[in-house]
Amino acid sequence: MKEEKLVLVYNILNIQMLDINILKRAVTEKLFCDDTFSFIIKNLKDKNHNLVPLNDFEQLVKKYPKKKKCWCLSGLSFIDCHFAKNRNFFDKKPTKIKKILNKKECLHKNVSICSNDIIKAHSISKKGALTSISENNHVYGLKFDFNGFIFKKIGINDASTFYGFCKKHDEFLFSSFEKHDFNKTQKQLFDLCYRAICQEHYTMLRVIDILHEIKLNKDINDNFKGQIEFQITINSQIKFYELGIKYSNYYKKNLEKKYSLLNYEDNLQHYVFELNDNYPKFQSSTCFNLEYDLEGNQLQDLDKAEIQSKNIFVNCISLQQKGYFIISWFKENTDYGKQIINSIISKPLLIEDKLFSLAFLYIHNTFVSPVWFESLTDSQKIDLENLRIFWAEKEKFSTSMIQDNMDSIKIENHYFLNTA
Ligand SMILES: [Zn+2]
Ligand SMILES: [Zn+2]
Repeated sequence: MKEEKLVLVYNILNIQMLDINILKRAVTEKLFCDDTFSFIIKNLKDKNHNLVPLNDFEQLVKKYPKKKKCWCLSGLSFIDCHFAKNRNFFDKKPTKIKKILNKKECLHKNVSICSNDIIKAHSISKKGALTSISENNHVYGLKFDFNGFIFKKIGINDASTFYGFCKKHDEFLFSSFEKHDFNKTQKQLFDLCYRAICQEHYTMLRVIDILHEIKLNKDINDNFKGQIEFQITINSQIKFYELGIKYSNYYKKNLEKKYSLLNYEDNLQHYVFELNDNYPKFQSSTCFNLEYDLEGNQLQDLDKAEIQSKNIFVNCISLQQKGYFIISWFKENTDYGKQIINSIISKPLLIEDKLFSLAFLYIHNTFVSPVWFESLTDSQKIDLENLRIFWAEKEKFSTSMIQDNMDSIKIENHYFLNTA
């Protein structure tokens, strides 16, 4: 599913007119309060016209009962929300983005009892993984900035961390590969995938929290037209992420059932690329719904919001001085997973470029070696930047986006993991 932009207000002969049909669509898509909408329709003087002067519309909205919930779906009563938003606003202080991003909540709480302390958990292990690429305990990672995401130096204690597990669960869930030799057992790969989906899940939850915060305070000084357009747009963004949460929750719960049963088999399939010594130059971990394979063929149509999306797990990590690029998927999506793998390995000379591009096109949770990053030429840095920002320019993947891997990854061998 992609976000939609609705044009609600037109300028006709210098009069601003609101399109009732478009607003009705917003109501059906749960982007505008249906009760406010019915109230307005009931009280419209001229019910035959689809276009209503915005001023008349605004006056009608003002007559909506003040104790009822606001039209913007904030959950607040109308009087405390948009009835006089700029006056209301001074009673509240906006929550700081940093505080929202660091919300503490254990994502394993529905499976077993938590300990009291939510800790800063690494979504990519510090020891062995981040330290394999770090220099003076630093790596480069994507940090949010006024210009969007840019690569910045980050200490390995902070790289890839999130407050998504209590101490007990963090230790117990990932000890299989953090405290034991990595033998690619079902359990170890299962745990790696679970950590990846939790990290992604946590990020989406926080994006929704931030959108709710922006929703409350960004339009205080806007006029009525600005407010109504802004609220419908942001509601559509929130809905987009809520759907992402719903679909990722389906897979997360699927894995959690296995934790309850202490049975880690039969759920996932894995394809392993083993890497040469001293590779990879980056570490990455995530779970997401890939829409196009690496040959540019569509795998699933994400515009169809009613269909459960299919996810892949990507873990590009070093464990005990050995690098791996592991792609995993649910057995119920076997064809999907196999098509992705075929699109990567069909042309042996391009495998490394495709894996590199996959990581840098799609995965924010990617950290790179300072030595490697600083040795890139200016033109390579531009190519890397182009991979990262392509979503701003293009709607869909095409094979022309695949970049040279810049000596960041070297494959020794690769295979379907024998699950027998
Ligand atoms: Zn409101
Ligand atoms: Zn917990």
